[in-house]
Amino acid sequence: MSIGCGHCEPCLNGSYNLCVTKQEVGLCRGKDGAFAQYLTMPARHCYRLPEGVSLEAGALVEPAATVVKAIRKAGLEPGALALITGDGPIGLLAAQAALASGAGWVVLAGTEPTKLEIGKQLGVHRTVDVTRENLHEIVMDETRGRGVDLALEGSGNGQALNACLDGARQGGRSRSSGSTRSPSRSSTWAWRLRGTSL
Ligand SMILES: [Zn+2]
Repeated sequence: MSIGCGHCEPCLNGSYNLCVTKQEVGLCRGKDGAFAQYLTMPARHCYRLPEGVSLEAGALVEPAATVVKAIRKAGLEPGALALITGDGPIGLLAAQAALASGAGWVVLAGTEPTKLEIGKQLGVHRTVDVTRENLHEIVMDETRGRGVDLALEGSGNGQALNACLDGARQGGRSRSSGSTRSPSRSSTWAWRLRGTSL
C-alpha cells in the first residue's frame, strides 16, 4: 500500500503509487508493516469495505488490484498465452486475473508444490516446479518455440524475471509485479531484438 505526498504531479493525477517521495507500508521510508493490530494511515488512503466483504477478502483487494492493473496495461488479448512466475499471493492472483481476462493458456511457475496445486485448482493449464523442472524449456516446448504473449513476474526473484524476459515471444510483453533488487542477466540488446515491451 503506497502513501503519496498528495501534492506532486503523479499524486495529483491519481497515481500516488508513483509519487517520488511515497512511503510503502512494510517496504520503504519508515512505514512499518501491517501485522500490528492497529496502523495509522492518511484518511485519503482509507476505504470502507462494502457490507459483506470479510477482512480476509479485503486484505486481498490491494494485491488483486495490482495484478489486474498489470494485466490491463499489458493488453492481454483473449486466447493469449501467459506465463506467471511466483506461486505466492501475487502469482496466484495474477493467474486468476489472466484466466478471467480470457487467456487461452496459463503456465504458473513456482517452488512450492502445495501452492502450485492451488494454481491447478484455480484453472491454470500447466504448473512448473522450478526446483526440479526447466521453465524455459517447458515454455518453449509448449508454445512450439514461439514463447508467450505475456510474461508476468510475481515472485521478486531475479531469475524469475530473467525467465519472463526470455519466455516472451517476438513482440511480446513482460511485466513485473514482484519486487526484486537482484540484477537481471537478460541483456537490453536481446529485448530490443525481440521487441519485448516492458
Ligand atoms: Zn506525491
